[in-house]
Amino acid sequence: MSTDQSAVPETILVIDDEVGIRNGCRRVLSAEGFQVRLAETAEQGLELLRAHPETSLTLVDLRMPGMGGLEYLPQAAELAPEMVSVVITAYATIETAVEATKRGAYDFLVKPFTPDDLLRVTYKALQHVRLLRERNRLQAEQERRLLELATEKSRLRIIINAMAEGVLVANAEGSLVLYNPAALRVLPGCDPQVAVSDLKRVLQPPALLALINEAQEQRKRLSREIALTHLPEQGWILADAAPVVEQGSGAFLGTVVVFRDITELKKVEQVKAQFVNMVAHELRAPLAAIDGYLALMQEGLATDPAQQRQMVARSRQRLKALLDLVGDLLNMARMEAGTVRREIEPHCLREIASEVLEMMAPLAAEREITCHLEFPPDLPPVEADREELIRLCNNLVSNAIKYNRESGEVRIVGEREGPFVKLVVSDTGVGISEENQQRLFSEFFRERRAESRHVTGTGLGLSIVKRIVDFYHGRVEVQSRPGQGTTFTVWLPCRFQCRE
Ligand code: ADP
Repeated sequence: MSTDQSAVPETILVIDDEVGIRNGCRRVLSAEGFQVRLAETAEQGLELLRAHPETSLTLVDLRMPGMGGLEYLPQAAELAPEMVSVVITAYATIETAVEATKRGAYDFLVKPFTPDDLLRVTYKALQHVRLLRERNRLQAEQERRLLELATEKSRLRIIINAMAEGVLVANAEGSLVLYNPAALRVLPGCDPQVAVSDLKRVLQPPALLALINEAQEQRKRLSREIALTHLPEQGWILADAAPVVEQGSGAFLGTVVVFRDITELKKVEQVKAQFVNMVAHELRAPLAAIDGYLALMQEGLATDPAQQRQMVARSRQRLKALLDLVGDLLNMARMEAGTVRREIEPHCLREIASEVLEMMAPLAAEREITCHLEFPPDLPPVEADREELIRLCNNLVSNAIKYNRESGEVRIVGEREGPFVKLVVSDTGVGISEENQQRLFSEFFRERRAESRHVTGTGLGLSIVKRIVDFYHGRVEVQSRPGQGTTFTVWLPCRFQCRE
């Protein structure tokens, strides 16, 4: 029998008041390759153990002057928990055996003993030490793994909770086993308390449940845009459902659904479609009209110079409308991109309004509309970009003329109101229905009414007005009674306030 030479030699502590036993043990055990330490008393033994807690085995005499072996055992176990102790005794009675075992002894060595007895007990005890160490190592390893797993789990939970995307995990029975706050934000109808027992009962909208079921049946990942029709204001999500299948057995475990709110994207898509529609529509009619006039002239069907002049005039009128449309679009794009160049200077709104009225005179004359300007002489100037003031005034006045009745009236009034100049543009036209009054300021909105069916426009004018007013920290309001007329009121601060 010998120790493992490749490893550090095991340390054995021999505590006995008899010098013969101590030396005998050292001789036999050292010859086996063990490192042996000797102590004459239990107190000395504890001292050595404190200094060398890696000690594998103690051979300790039961009866010694001072501290005896039985007292030594529990204290030694505290200092070196992985160490094993064997008691050396001349009195191998059942009682001492039981008592020693209770105190933590592993075995006995009865005096007098032979070298073989010593080695047999030593090797047996060391085998036990190794088993003990291995067990402790495995236990520590397992605890470390459990801790790692717990950390991993909480890390995962933190990540899932922080995700902007909604996450729902349903098990094979269709119960909710995991969800994150974003899921509840996007699907406010989904009550997790109930969903835990039955996802089908609470998962709105039904199309999402259908997607989960399909992914489960087809055993493949499916992606779909889903309308949230159950919400007060309809939204959209892009949902991705992936079935989870156990590797090897192929058993279906559940479905992971990840979804994100695409309502804004959908709105942009709708605006884009509306825009393309509007542009196509608005371009086609005037272009077709101009084409018609040109064809008539080309084919020599309009030979009368007066008739020709009229056709050219109409063509130019239509072309001007197209140029206005392009101008509005460019303007919107610039405002959207924040690349509008402004020269902020004080301007007299009366002058601006007069200039706009002059530009509008032909249109007003065509429809026999009378326009009135009412501005007090002491109206303070407004600090703003001149082009923007003209655009704002132009949009309001041209609408007041376009949506007016034949031979109607338009009033443009300027007033001071505290730190603001108030511009009021009122007409005697078709008016705007109550429910549409707040929608007028959104892009491309046009009210569909029989009376104004023939009026051309882009649906951009008022949204440009709103953007200009907002830029200057002003306000715009509308008051209207269908069939009687409309009043737009704009408040612009006299002093320009920088946006920053
Ligand atoms: P456009 O005039 O090019 O259609 P606007 O943004 O200027 O676009 O106006 C949006 C819609 O608001 C118009 O289509 C019209 O239905 C309504 N509207 C605007 N001004 C008036 C007004 N003074 N009287 C009646 N309706 C108006």
